[in-house]
Amino acid sequence: MAQGHMIPMVDLGLLLADRGVSVSLITTPFNASRIRTTIDQAREAGLPIRFVELPFPFAEVGLPEGLENIDAATSMEPMSAFFRATSLLRRPLEQYLREQSPYPSCIISDLCHPWTLEVARNLQVPRLTFFSICCFTLLCIHNIWYYKVYDDMPDEHESFVVPGLAERIEVTKAQAPGFFDMPGWEKMAEEVREAEFAADGIVVNSFRDLEPIYIESYQKAMQKKVWTVGPFSLRNKSVAAMAARGNRASIDTDQCLSWLDSKKPMSVVYVSFGSLTKMNPSQLMEICLGLEASNHPFVLVIKKSETSEKVEEWMAAGLEERIGSRALVIRGWSPQVMILSHPSVGGFMTHCGWNSTLESITAGVPMITWPHFADQFLNERMVVDVLRIGVSLGVKEPTYWGTEAGHSAVSRDDVERAVRNVMDEGEEGRERRLRAKELGEKAKEAMEEGGSSRANMTHLIEHYTRHAMESMESNGD
Ligand code: UDP
Repeated sequence: MAQGHMIPMVDLGLLLADRGVSVSLITTPFNASRIRTTIDQAREAGLPIRFVELPFPFAEVGLPEGLENIDAATSMEPMSAFFRATSLLRRPLEQYLREQSPYPSCIISDLCHPWTLEVARNLQVPRLTFFSICCFTLLCIHNIWYYKVYDDMPDEHESFVVPGLAERIEVTKAQAPGFFDMPGWEKMAEEVREAEFAADGIVVNSFRDLEPIYIESYQKAMQKKVWTVGPFSLRNKSVAAMAARGNRASIDTDQCLSWLDSKKPMSVVYVSFGSLTKMNPSQLMEICLGLEASNHPFVLVIKKSETSEKVEEWMAAGLEERIGSRALVIRGWSPQVMILSHPSVGGFMTHCGWNSTLESITAGVPMITWPHFADQFLNERMVVDVLRIGVSLGVKEPTYWGTEAGHSAVSRDDVERAVRNVMDEGEEGRERRLRAKELGEKAKEAMEEGGSSRANMTHLIEHYTRHAMESMESNGD
């Protein structure tokens, strides 16, 4: 239950419902409250999707009420209780599913819920693991584990080449930790791996033409079907759907669109670092100064958790006046997909969370990459080395989630240089933009009639419908 997992899962549920599949999307009251508009839109459209709210068991694990999403935590401290509480949803989920007639034909469950394996086994229902992560990164994580690369690597900053890949990809252990690969989380890491191996198939938010070799290799490595059915964000076509995605936007969408309309095509840099990273005030100021020096108009998203009097006073003391209408600062939740798909946006400074990365690819927008933790450094390699549609800010050290870097990892000069580079009118910039545009076209084609993701979705639905009918017949139902 984090935005980077919930948002694509909701999109996936809606995509299935669009195809006439009856969907129960399991969530909790606080998380459902954030997407109330999306729920209402689905109801008004008469889609066969039900949003099931299971009460979150705070009290049982001693969590404060309201901590139902990882972005509500300010440190790693409550995380072990959080995941314990999540796994306690096993019983109410099983009970809910048992009450359905007929039983569901399959469960699609996020990688962070390995406990659904037992639910699926108890109900004798197939279970698919869902990743909003590309197959390139999944394969890297798998190969590092499979070839036991870390067994003999005392220095987590030593760089190595990921084994078994078509391309030469260099990372360090600190940059490519694997899922829950942290001291104290060994059991969870093992359960996640077991649930991935035990899954009947894997659903991935990616598309064939983005990474054909990596999809095939990952499928081979896992020895099971990998269904690439994305990019999911394309499900949100109207401004209303984009603005309601994940949370209510903190800015009036008309105001945001008219600001974007007032800018030249491909001139704006969009700067946002997902839902979990936390920039300290001095780093935010460095970013602002670098953006100011780049001379490009920009949209900067400052999360609620990052807002501070220090930054506000500093901005009011000069920056706002100097920059004027060249900048749009969003404090809180940004309608990201709406902004990225606007023709005036020409670059995205991102932390390389896979959803943001794929949303940028889908919009045909090249990236300035600044990974922080988890899978983000590997996603950066995908963007910069494999797809060649990004410029790296050169950050090598992870900033762990729940901690705030005490220093500025990136200087204003680095920001200015990277922005100028990605927005560059010269040969290199033009070619990068062209590659990004081509991928954006392919992303859209994948989701259209006759496209690979649409066809995969059809096969997935047919496969599990047939499987459910056969089970019912053999049970004599
Ligand atoms: N997002 C958004 N508005 C914001 C911040 C994030 O719409 O202000 C969305 C973004 O479009 C993406 C998701 O939240 O779909 C973040 O997922 P990602 O994998 O990029 O990063 P994470 O937040 O998991 O680090």
